[in-house]
Amino acid sequence: MQISKRIKTLSRSQTVEITNLSRCLKNEGIDVISLSVGEPDFTTPEEIIHYANTMAKQGNTKYVATDGLPELKLKIQEKMQRDNALSYDLDEIFVGSGAKQVLYNIFMALLDPGDEVVVPNPFWVTYTEQVKLAEGVPVIAHTTAENEYKLTPKILDQFMTEKTKILVLNSPNNPTGSVYTREELKALADYLDDKDIIVIADEIYEVLVYDGEHISIASMSEKMKKKTIVINGVSKSHAMTGWRVGYACGDREVISAITKLQSQLVSSVSTPAQYAAVAAYDMERTFLDEYNQLFRKRRDNAYKKMVELPYVECIKPQGAFYLFPYFKDTAKKCGFNTVDDFLKALLSEKHVALVPGSAFGYPNNLRLSYAVDEDTLNEAMNRLKIFINEKL
Ligand code: PLP
Repeated sequence: MQISKRIKTLSRSQTVEITNLSRCLKNEGIDVISLSVGEPDFTTPEEIIHYANTMAKQGNTKYVATDGLPELKLKIQEKMQRDNALSYDLDEIFVGSGAKQVLYNIFMALLDPGDEVVVPNPFWVTYTEQVKLAEGVPVIAHTTAENEYKLTPKILDQFMTEKTKILVLNSPNNPTGSVYTREELKALADYLDDKDIIVIADEIYEVLVYDGEHISIASMSEKMKKKTIVINGVSKSHAMTGWRVGYACGDREVISAITKLQSQLVSSVSTPAQYAAVAAYDMERTFLDEYNQLFRKRRDNAYKKMVELPYVECIKPQGAFYLFPYFKDTAKKCGFNTVDDFLKALLSEKHVALVPGSAFGYPNNLRLSYAVDEDTLNEAMNRLKIFINEKL
């Protein structure tokens, strides 16, 4: 069968591939430790599961409104007001099957062939591929460790053209763990003030900030709010990756366009899953505080162990659950030409799975996910250390 050029040229998600490979090796009885996953390691809180179950048993198993279950949209509206000081009407809120699917709809609804989308590098693997699917052109804006891999007006200015339609901003960031400060967002907002551009602000890791606070660029000014589509969801905040509920808040014309697309694509997101998200937003704040504390401890432990490794340089991440160290020198000293080769050998010899930076457009680094318990992390870091020492 002849597969379309569109799909032939699409890259597979490397993070998903590595996670699948580790799963296969595990099924073969090999004790693989995977630090490649982008999801919390524990199960969804019991009250969320219970509520979804109850609602399903009560007969809530049918299609609902294409743009989202009304009860959930009300919760999202409340959350945006409370946590982000952003007020949205209900027709400015859209619920999709995970943030990933919401992003796809947005690129499809906004991009015409040749429109450019500025994506700061390193970037989450999906942005560039979705832009290409929508026949847009990803424009990669390189950032560096000196600036904690954050975009500045100066860098952005080098990549803006008359074809620029969208800027993607992801804070807290996957893969770097960087979090933009209020001042940094203000500087970007000032720069964008007279520009005709849409900002997609991916804030899916919002609750996982350990130093400083999460700020949405949409809250910089009324004008900035109008230009911004905020993306969020319950996957990372409530250990709900498998339920597939994410959302967008922004301009009602865009929300209406993505709803039209959704009506031909998904009809509506799984109804019990949307009820589960309602229960997530009804949970006590203490849940999120404890969750945050747990990940902060893991961040500190993982960071401490990472910077002890020879030739490694790593910024201390302030959010999400990833470390993104520079690893080229370590790989070289160990006799490997690339970080990719180092990681392949590490997986086959010591059974530790990490994601190469090349998956994020940054081949001299690697990404470690510390969304695992302490013993697992310690064992993985031990194996990594032994591997390096054996090769040096
Ligand atoms: N945005 C970023 C930056 C992510 O890292 C991920 C998941 O890895 C998503 C969005 C997708 O989230 P969801 O599970 O809601 O589709």
